[in-house]
Amino acid sequence: MAAQQRRHGPGSPGERFDVLDPATGEVFDEAPRQQPDELDAVVGRAHEAWLGWRSDPAVRSAALLAAADAVDEAGTDLAPLLTREQGKPLAESYAEIARTAARLRYFAERTAPRPRLLTDGRPMRSEIRWRPLGPVAAITPWNFPLQLAAAKFAPALAAGNTMVLKPSPFTPLATRLLGSVVSTALPEDVLTIVTGPEPLGARLAAHPGIRHVTFTGSVPTGRAVAQGAAASLARVTLELGGNDAAVLLDDVEVERIADRLFWAAFRNCGQVCMAVKRVYAPVRLYDQVVEALAERAKSVVLGAGLDPATQLGPVNNAPQLARVGDYTARALADGARAVAGGHRLDRPGYFFAPTILADVPAISPVVTEEQFGPVLPVLPYGSTDEAVEAANDTGFGLGGSVWGTDLDRAEEVAGRLECGTAWINHHAELSLDQPFAGSKESGVGVAGGPWGLYGNLAPFVVHRPQEA
Ligand code: NAD
Repeated sequence: MAAQQRRHGPGSPGERFDVLDPATGEVFDEAPRQQPDELDAVVGRAHEAWLGWRSDPAVRSAALLAAADAVDEAGTDLAPLLTREQGKPLAESYAEIARTAARLRYFAERTAPRPRLLTDGRPMRSEIRWRPLGPVAAITPWNFPLQLAAAKFAPALAAGNTMVLKPSPFTPLATRLLGSVVSTALPEDVLTIVTGPEPLGARLAAHPGIRHVTFTGSVPTGRAVAQGAAASLARVTLELGGNDAAVLLDDVEVERIADRLFWAAFRNCGQVCMAVKRVYAPVRLYDQVVEALAERAKSVVLGAGLDPATQLGPVNNAPQLARVGDYTARALADGARAVAGGHRLDRPGYFFAPTILADVPAISPVVTEEQFGPVLPVLPYGSTDEAVEAANDTGFGLGGSVWGTDLDRAEEVAGRLECGTAWINHHAELSLDQPFAGSKESGVGVAGGPWGLYGNLAPFVVHRPQEA
């Protein structure tokens, strides 16, 4: 165990907590159980480190580039560990690591936002400059632990802040290792990873030394984080849950889009904030859509992420597996049909059969809430207006998509979706330079691209009189 602990980065001696492999349901390692009262010292050191880190954008740029190289080099250590604790197929872990390094490189080129002239008239010239905020707290979920950690620390550090990051207790190890790898390129205490069960996250969000809390997770926890941060009036950025609808128009070619639609819902075992979580199909095509999705659900290869044949891994953790099972059981009790799957697999680990639900009442929780698992309800609609109304009939507003052959018409319908990002004939494809912001209850603030950088900076305006 001592060798394993070293492998996962420096740890504080003391209490530890178990980390489970979702493919077996058994403990495979431990992580440090840091106590909330350690945070005063951790945040204090992050503040000291900030005093130097904020001063030179060129130093930050070089360090972030070196960190990206270090992440690439550590891929063969990071990927199996990520798969082991998260469950995803190994190839997807490698893809996540590549995106982690890419994000560091993207922000390494953006460490010095230019001052901008606001007015150059008489009697005043005024200019806007940008200042880092101080120590930032980040709290991340278990579905993309590395990529989402990088989405937090790359812009925050590029902007000249330091960071204390707390990963989900379901996936602490790969993030700890990532923290050690990235920190080889950084001054001490610029990035600190703390691990442990609650109330560690709540105490971090409410810590008076934190100037910005950036959180990714569910809506209820987001609310609690915002309440905690209100104590010190730290800035909050919240990237929260989604219940994305895919609206299929009546000119869609079902067989042509079925693979893409299926994987938009089931990638990472459906544990994607922007997964397709509801499909609306025109009545005329309803049976064909259900069949096409069910056929794919039945043929997917399920297994441990470390097995190269695996296309879909297990659900990440026992509470999430129970939640997916409950939503499915409730839908079936409400009169839905499981055209594929509908049950947990009879084998060790948290495996749930990829499930396509037909004839689901619109009020069933699998439609109205976020299932965040390998279960997809397909609902029929009559008119396009009816489909748009149903798609928007939710408190969530993360993403949405429209699928059809006439792209102009699809774009017109996509423009009516109440969400932060809409796609046509795709779903959940994001570029590094785009803003990422949920509408309605799916988020507060904007991450991604330059917006992510400015989310970690405070404007500072200087007025000076012009010479007469
Ligand atoms: P969660 O809200 O249960 O937990 C998220 C993080 O918050 C974890 O690190 C957890 O330990 C911590 N936490 C729990 N209670 C806390 C508290 N009171 N104060 C502070 N921190 C606390 O979410 P999850 O189950 O880990 O992740 C799934 C959710 O995340 C889904 O709703 C999904 O849609 C969402 N998500 C959103 C995005 C996005 O970018 N919008 C991306 C990925 C996941």
